[in-house]
This record gives sequence, C-alpha cells and structure tokens, in this order.
Amino acid sequence: MIVDSHCHFHLLERPESADAALQEAKAAGVGYFLNVAVGVEEHARLTAFSERHKEVFTSIGVHPCGTGEDPSPEQLAALADHPGVVAIGETGLDYGAGSELDYGWQQARFRRHIEAARQAGLPIIVHSRLAPADTLSILQEEHAEEVGGVIHCFVEDAETARGFLDLGFYLSISGIVTFANAKALRQTVSELPLDRLLVETDCPYLAPVPHRGQENRPGWVLEVIECIAELQQLPAAQIAEKTAENFFACFPRAARGALG
Ligand SMILES: [Zn+2]
Ligand SMILES: [Zn+2]
Repeated sequence: MIVDSHCHFHLLERPESADAALQEAKAAGVGYFLNVAVGVEEHARLTAFSERHKEVFTSIGVHPCGTGEDPSPEQLAALADHPGVVAIGETGLDYGAGSELDYGWQQARFRRHIEAARQAGLPIIVHSRLAPADTLSILQEEHAEEVGGVIHCFVEDAETARGFLDLGFYLSISGIVTFANAKALRQTVSELPLDRLLVETDCPYLAPVPHRGQENRPGWVLEVIECIAELQQLPAAQIAEKTAENFFACFPRAARGALG
C-alpha cells in the first residue's frame, strides 16, 4: 500500500483535473491521500471531495501564510466534526517573507490550531519553513505531544529531527529529497528511523526529480519512496508499506475510515 500523506488536489492549476490526477495516482498504486486544507473557505469543497472519494481524507486549518478568515479554536474544532476530516492544519510557521518581519501573529495562529486539535481530539499537520527553533519551542510550550501529528515537508537537520521525534511527531519527506542541491537532507534522511517517516508530494508544488518544474501530481510520491529506499538501502516496497502503516498510526480517524 502507498499513501500520499500531504497533497492539495484543489490547488491544481485546473481544479477540474483533480479527479484525473486521483485516477492516475490510483493506477500508479497510491491507495490513500490526505488532501490538506490551507484555508477554511475551501472546507465544503474538501469535505465533498472526500465524500465522493472515500480514499481521500482531508483536514481543516489555515496555512501560516493564509490571508483569509482566521477562525477560533472552537470554530476549527466544530468544522473538524466530519468523518473525512482526520487532522487540524496545515498550520505552523513560515518565515519565508523576510527575517525582519514580526511573525507574532503567525505564532498566535499556530497556538490556536494546537488548541483546536486538543478540542477536536485530532493530530496536527505542521508546516515549518525557515523557523525550526520557534516551531519546536511552540510545540513544546503548547504540549503538542498530547495531540501528535506530522512535520510535513521535513527539510531540517538531524538535531532538529530529534527534537520533533522526541515529541512523538512523525516526519514527512517530500520530493525535495530528490533535488540536486539537497545533499545534506539526503544524509539526514538516510539516518532517520523508518518507523517515524511518512511520504508526501505536496502536489501541486515540489515536483520530484525527474519531473522538476512541472505541476506535481500525487502519483509521483513513488519517486520520493524510491529515493528513500536508496538512502536507507531497503526495498522500495518496504518503504511504501511502512510509511503507509505510519500514516494510519499518525491519523487514527483515517485508520477507522479506511481499515474499518
Ligand atoms: Zn506546507
Ligand atoms: Zn501543503
């Protein structure tokens, strides 16, 4: 079994091609998907897609760079009350707009999402870009080990990985691991514990080698699995099986939906 633990079907350039991308990925052997929310405005569309495709789970949350509605923890938890919604997020910190900026509002929003996860009894999907230290300290301060979840698109060093793993979080590896300039990340991934790894595409972003520059598709999660297999010197089938098993351990509501 293969699971794409983080993709955005609804953000494909032509959203009407979401069904085609899904069929293509299923034909390639990908069995389950987590279609991640970046804003609350898209909630009805995401849950409708999950209702139509039982193998597609979804989440509720506002991306750290999101500029739309900013819901309270209570509102997020209420929206999470749907069998297809298996997580809160993506939430977290993105310091990509410049180090001179005040990111206090992002930090407050991140903390509200952790509170929502606690209320909803669901894990969180964490986006952390150029902010490893602050991400880790907010997770620690808010006792995020009580809700659990995943650091999606993990690109940090081994020491930062250890901090997240110590909190019980999973690390999700994206197509970045295949990029020519990702030598340090490949070294780190070669040493990460397989029982805490997930794989993702972050489709439509971050298409893996050899598809770089194109719109990413969930079917290309296979390239990520192949790359990890090479780094960990294990069969690709074993990486696929284990990361799928980890996915369902990380997101128990998905396990109930998929595995009964
Ligand atoms: Zn993200
Ligand atoms: Zn994403």
